[in-house]
Amino acid sequence: MDTCTYDLDHSAVEATHYYKAYEGDRVMLCFGCASRFGYPQYLVELPRPRSWRTEYGYLVNVQIGTGQGDLVADVWPMEGDGVESWLTILGCQESKYLVADAAWEPYRPHYSVNDDFTYEATRVTCLPVVQCV
Ligand SMILES: [Zn+2]
Repeated sequence: MDTCTYDLDHSAVEATHYYKAYEGDRVMLCFGCASRFGYPQYLVELPRPRSWRTEYGYLVNVQIGTGQGDLVADVWPMEGDGVESWLTILGCQESKYLVADAAWEPYRPHYSVNDDFTYEATRVTCLPVVQCV
């Protein structure tokens, strides 16, 4: 929890207003202080940081017949929207069903075999997935 930085007595009071001061300092005010001192024009109001929550992610593992994993194809973890396209790019012909199966039964690897490749997808609960584009 961010706390009010205006008044030392407010070190336990939750901040509700965030500003960037004219020298770039981050200022956090509780509702009381923000109401009391108003919104000085030299302060830029910052959006309130959003709280995070867990998300679903998919572990993707692709293996060739030897049991060796493909280092390029293995991704941990991946967002739901991207995992189906990624599996399709890798040559999985049943990516839609594989992802649906994984979504239906989390924490258990689901497989799809196509030619010499075995595609494995497992749905897990993870911290928010950061996309590197
Ligand atoms: Zn305060």
